[in-house]
Amino acid sequence: MDRAETRVAILEDGRAAECYIERRGQRSVVGHVWKGRVENVLAGMEAAFIEIGLEKNGFLHVDEVVALGVPKRKRQIADLLKRGDEVLVQATKDPMGTKGVRLTMQLSLAGRFVVYVPYGDGVGVSKRLPDDERTRLRAICGALPLESGGLIVRTAAAGASAREIARDLAYLKKLWETLQERGKLATAPTLLYSEADISLRVIRDLLNSDVKEVLVDDRAQFERVTGFLRRTSPEMADRVRHWDGDTPLFEQYGVERAIRNTVERRVPLPSGGYLVIDDTEAMTVIDVNSGRNVGKGGSRLEDTITKTNLEAATEVVRQLRLRDIGGIIIIDFIDMDDERNRKAVKAALDTALAGDRTRTYVVDISPLGLVEMTRQNISDGPREIMSEVCPTCAGVGIILSDETHAIAVERELRQSLAGRSEAATVVVHPRVADVILSEDGARLAALEADIGCPIRVERDGNVAPGSVRVKGGSGSGAAAERPAAAGSAPSPTRSSASRRRVSSRSS
Ligand SMILES: [Zn+2]
Repeated sequence: MDRAETRVAILEDGRAAECYIERRGQRSVVGHVWKGRVENVLAGMEAAFIEIGLEKNGFLHVDEVVALGVPKRKRQIADLLKRGDEVLVQATKDPMGTKGVRLTMQLSLAGRFVVYVPYGDGVGVSKRLPDDERTRLRAICGALPLESGGLIVRTAAAGASAREIARDLAYLKKLWETLQERGKLATAPTLLYSEADISLRVIRDLLNSDVKEVLVDDRAQFERVTGFLRRTSPEMADRVRHWDGDTPLFEQYGVERAIRNTVERRVPLPSGGYLVIDDTEAMTVIDVNSGRNVGKGGSRLEDTITKTNLEAATEVVRQLRLRDIGGIIIIDFIDMDDERNRKAVKAALDTALAGDRTRTYVVDISPLGLVEMTRQNISDGPREIMSEVCPTCAGVGIILSDETHAIAVERELRQSLAGRSEAATVVVHPRVADVILSEDGARLAALEADIGCPIRVERDGNVAPGSVRVKGGSGSGAAAERPAAAGSAPSPTRSSASRRRVSSRSS
């Protein structure tokens, strides 16, 4: 992976449904395994901070500690871990915002068909598979040589033969042995195992018989992907093609635009309505608007509203997946009078969410037309990866107006020039100068009368809008630049990635 960026898109019915971006130097660490050292134990939080060699210590909750023989209800972090202990830990969630990596000691090693859980037990089969297929896979796994640990059978195992699954498990057990050996020799903190990069991860985790075709435009990446499949699922290797079309791959399939649109606030709906997606510190708020597409009064109005809401239900889920939005989400549908229509919109939302692999929890639609839901994402979405907080407004979305700055500058001048009679030259930002010199000079004249001295206004783009410099004041010769007290721009501490998310990963 030599390029600055690797992107993977999943298309459904010809449209971009999900998109993963990985940039050089900021890869996801979910799945990585470290030998870490307990840095401190917080009894009150029932958690420990683990040094793993990243910028911030990882967070390990008591529920994620492996303690064989101790019943889960009776566990207390202070009994299980102490400062300086060395532990094998795996990342379940990337560092996001101010939070460090979330860790677990319950390691899981993902293969193409199964996930091996060394400290687990039993066999679990993906609930996304049909019943008869689950029975078949359960029988196959029951016969496997699984001396210790547990197994999770993934959706991709649909149709896989006993031999393929056995080969997958053998590989993972070997990997576990290697990991343990490396762990014994290593000094904490050390990275013992790094999860595959995004392209192999998507192929391993998501490629199943429903996928018609995989297109790869990078030759080396294409070789890696087909190589991996020839080893694990040879019959799937034929579905991978090298793209060498004249049009860039992501242009050809409209993915480029879909990705670009993930940073837009407004998302149009087919019949003229639109969504407004607002990301706040605590939650994401999605507002449904009818636009101009409103019929006149009565039942036609209710019909139009319901139609817009139904379109919105589908588009909201599409955007949740495409942007990989996590945490608390509030959807504000347009008010509907009819209970049946509310139910229809809720049903449309549920249907759309059934196609979302990421776990969601939806509370019923409230009388005000609000739907509360949570969605568990584990990494930053394309929006967070592609954007940074606006340095001018620090993500607030508003800045003080020029009028506000001008008033503050005038207030400052009344103070600093008080009692002066000789003419003063003041330097301000050009936009602030425009305001002070507006009203054909009447505004400045009033200020001069107030203070009692003539004022000459100069423009300088290097002076902050909220500041003023008085030239050669009081014979000192020094140009004092003082911030006027209109409040300066908020400091950019808020990260675009800092919104709250709900933890845990899906397999
Ligand atoms: Zn801004």
